[in-house]
Amino acid sequence: RLIYMSGKFVPQSEAKVSVFDHGFLYGDGIFEGLRVYEGNIYKSREHLIRLYESAKSIMLDIPMTIDELEEVMVETVKKNDLRNAYIRLVISRGPGDLGLDPFTCKNPEIIIIADQVRLFPQELYDKGLDIVTVPTRRNTPDALNPKIKSLNYLNNVLVKIEARRAGVLEALMLNHEGYVCEGSGDNIFLVKKGKLITPPTYLGALEGITRETVMELAKAKGYEVVETPFTRHDVYVADECFLTGTAAEVIPVISVDDRIVGDGTPGPVTKELIQSYRQVVTEDGRQ
Ligand code: PLP
Repeated sequence: RLIYMSGKFVPQSEAKVSVFDHGFLYGDGIFEGLRVYEGNIYKSREHLIRLYESAKSIMLDIPMTIDELEEVMVETVKKNDLRNAYIRLVISRGPGDLGLDPFTCKNPEIIIIADQVRLFPQELYDKGLDIVTVPTRRNTPDALNPKIKSLNYLNNVLVKIEARRAGVLEALMLNHEGYVCEGSGDNIFLVKKGKLITPPTYLGALEGITRETVMELAKAKGYEVVETPFTRHDVYVADECFLTGTAAEVIPVISVDDRIVGDGTPGPVTKELIQSYRQVVTEDGRQ
């Protein structure tokens, strides 16, 4: 693989970050995950806007315009000869002093990796996921705002650890009040009496781009979509449940904390949305 870093393309074996990089020392940076479908980067503008908003919030000046960055992403995909791929775009504060002060970092580092990705095995898209809720709480907006896609993903890493220890692949984070927020790297939806329900992001969730797409798709199909707080109980008694994310796409959930959701198989609304999501990601590229 050819990796874009420090302004040029280097072979994977040479793509190394300085130990003085504050992205490494302090998790001081931001990132995005994007998908390439049939040679086109899906919703690259939306991802780049979120990236620049995250950067603004943490006062990190990305030394490239949005158009330039988009161009380098396209080039990275081309150079690696990929038609279907995942792009990881990382902007770190760059190398500086050992101390915390980000103002000692003069050159933010831009890294673009394009590679294959499979978050969950294919069979789980047909069968559905068993998930759990975990003790690790989602940050509330008074701490590091979850809307910032920062390199501080320890919360999410802990959630993944807690999920794996429970023998499952994904888990849900609640906020300090017990409201369901999101998964370790995906947003959550319930279906109840034909209506789609997802938590408002102010509870503590990333404003997922897949979440947005799914809400639009569902509305276009005539479903009512509401953003409203809900608890674990509501998840247990939902008719259907699924997760959304750039890497995960739309994936059904069939049990939560050993409570079977619906009849324990992916529900009709979930299946319909999996299908239309797959269609839209490839179609949008062809326009
Ligand atoms: N929530 C978290 C914490 C994430 O890291 C991600 C992945 O980017 C998502 C949700 C899903 O967001 P998107 O659909 O934009 O990939």
